[in-house]
Amino acid sequence: MIQSSNRQLEEAKDSILFTAARSDIVMERGEGMYLWDTEGKLYLDFIGGWAVTCLGHSPAVIREALERQASVLVNASPAFYNKPMLELAKLLTDLSCFDKVFFASSGAEANESAIKLARKHGLKNLGGAYEIITMTNGFHGRSLATMSATGKSQWEPLFAPKVPGFRHVSLNDIDSLMSVMNRNTCAVMLELVQGEGGIRPVDVEYLYKLRKVCDEYGVMLIYDEIQTGLGRTGKLFAYELYGIEADVMTLGKGIGGGFPLSAMLTKEAFNLFDPGDQGGTYSGQPLAMAVGLAVVNEVVNRNLPAHAGVQGDYILERLHGIKETYQFTSIRGQGLLIAFDLPDPKGAELVSECLKEGLLINSPSPHTIRLMPALIVSRDEIDAMFDKLCRVMDRVLAI
Ligand SMILES: *Cc1c(COP(=O)(O)O)cnc(C)c1O
Repeated sequence: MIQSSNRQLEEAKDSILFTAARSDIVMERGEGMYLWDTEGKLYLDFIGGWAVTCLGHSPAVIREALERQASVLVNASPAFYNKPMLELAKLLTDLSCFDKVFFASSGAEANESAIKLARKHGLKNLGGAYEIITMTNGFHGRSLATMSATGKSQWEPLFAPKVPGFRHVSLNDIDSLMSVMNRNTCAVMLELVQGEGGIRPVDVEYLYKLRKVCDEYGVMLIYDEIQTGLGRTGKLFAYELYGIEADVMTLGKGIGGGFPLSAMLTKEAFNLFDPGDQGGTYSGQPLAMAVGLAVVNEVVNRNLPAHAGVQGDYILERLHGIKETYQFTSIRGQGLLIAFDLPDPKGAELVSECLKEGLLINSPSPHTIRLMPALIVSRDEIDAMFDKLCRVMDRVLAI
């Protein structure tokens, strides 16, 4: 195979359909907390593939799992079980409070499955109820139904007509929820820490009341743990922080460590699908299953959730140490899902200046900076991040 030159790659950018304003960088290689582009420039990665590469870039356990599985079976068919599929399903049910697993490839598909299961529950158990209550500023994906479930005001006018049957309410406001709860309600779906919404956690009292209300009305409670799951918040699953269980939970991002893998987990009581209701060509795909198994085992065996908790606390401590200097208006976080607010709407500028400095950070909204590094991040790497970040903030924030 002849390798493309950088100039050929540059020209080939015209072949990519425009969907987002990407930077011009072409990433070529990754290892641990670092990425290298085709020019050989090094980047310290505090985006972590969007809270995805929980074990860092190109970890040995993923490479080995792929090689091992690819040498025996790449793909049989979704009509059969396969070994890693059974092993991963058993592992996830053992590690969580759930009994059944449906596998998919992306977070949107896992949530789509949860939405369908909620409607099936409404049909079978609640006289045809079909409405799902979700939260303002929540994020659930980019398929038509999950965009409809998402509570981003910018998305409201897009792709009309949206999938009907979603009601958005304010997070942590039980009165707002009760005002739309009616006999058509079949489920409530929410993130335990809103990720794309800028790191907004659910209050424990609110979640307790929500669980009670759902029980009272027979309404399904769904946790979207696609961003919070797999150790990100300092626990294997964020619901463990609250000690309050859902009926259904979705996982994505970290569960594949960078390989496309997602899952919907449910309790036995909601084992409601009939043949044909849900499925997919890649549901339980052996390579994805082998990677998932390797990633989940590694996260658990190395006790990475606890490590994420400790490193997250250290990042928060460092942020509080520079809060006055840079006039941050808020600092918040749970484990390695951390955000802080700038006094001025300079998020995008800070991100692009950090990029030049070889540091990857994210700005989910103009005032907010979000950090979501791999769970393996070390203290030295955190210190290196702060050196770069402060150097850029000195310039950009003009303190
Ligand atoms: C990223 C994300 C999704 C969507 O996952 P995709 O893999 O992009 O489809 C859904 N919910 C939450 C909370 C997410 O963070």
